[in-house]
Amino acid sequence: MMRSPAAPGAFSEPPKKSLGQNFLHERGVVDRIVLAVNPQPGDRLVEIGPGQGAMTFPLLERHGALTAIEFDRDLLEPLTLQAATHGELNLIHANVLDVDFTALAGDAPIRLVGNLPYNLSSPILFHALDHAAVVTDMHFMLQKEVVERMASGPGSKVYGRLSVMLQAYCEVTMLFVVGPGAFRPPPKVDSAVVRLKPRAPETVGIDDPRRFSDIVRAAFGQRRKTLRNALSDVMDGDAIAAAGIDPQLRAEQLAVADFVRLANHPVTT
Ligand code: SAM
Repeated sequence: MMRSPAAPGAFSEPPKKSLGQNFLHERGVVDRIVLAVNPQPGDRLVEIGPGQGAMTFPLLERHGALTAIEFDRDLLEPLTLQAATHGELNLIHANVLDVDFTALAGDAPIRLVGNLPYNLSSPILFHALDHAAVVTDMHFMLQKEVVERMASGPGSKVYGRLSVMLQAYCEVTMLFVVGPGAFRPPPKVDSAVVRLKPRAPETVGIDDPRRFSDIVRAAFGQRRKTLRNALSDVMDGDAIAAAGIDPQLRAEQLAVADFVRLANHPVTT
């Protein structure tokens, strides 16, 4: 069947599954996100994946200006044309994983928002963490199951590397759940909106971020094993005990602060 030519400025391409395109259409959900973000005068908002503008246009109307990063070339022209009636949109055509948020921020912090492509959730979260020093906060829509992992604590079945890495650097708050019907096409899973607020560097207390990341990765890489076994490549049992942690415990039993203690324990050669 031939598609009739789209009106100038209309979004005419079908959603692309490969780019995680599930477009929000429920105005009530958009309003709740805008309320949660609550932009204040002078804030510098950066949206990841504006899509067809479901959040972009209401945020522009509320705030006047916004930077957005979109990978899909087909969306650029209609976004630009439609944004003109709502506010000042600075649209960057890029893969968000290639965007240097620190350079983008320059001398003033940014606030990240986005209904993220679910296939890239974790890489985008870790990329944002790398630039946490210039990020005031983040409001993201993600798969509900991912948000539960991000916000969970010791003892939970879903507590893991993502929980510890994010909570070590940010306050993580699950805000509300969104059903599949709010999107076109509907995803197969529930979604949730989460707020991440990077902690001040002096309160994070991690001496060597690389070592912290290595220890958390090793500990959860073999989560059924005791720390003595799981960490054998990076730390021996005596060092674990000297850091004040029982080497017979498993990673899922440790609080975030325990991982910080392990990572900060002096390395003996
Ligand atoms: N914000 C829109 C909404 O709420 O309807 C769209 C959300 S859709 C779930 C994800 C958006 O991210 C799509 O517009 C998609 O093209 C874009 N996207 C996918 N991969 C991207 C990437 N690597 N960098 C930037 N944008 C990307």
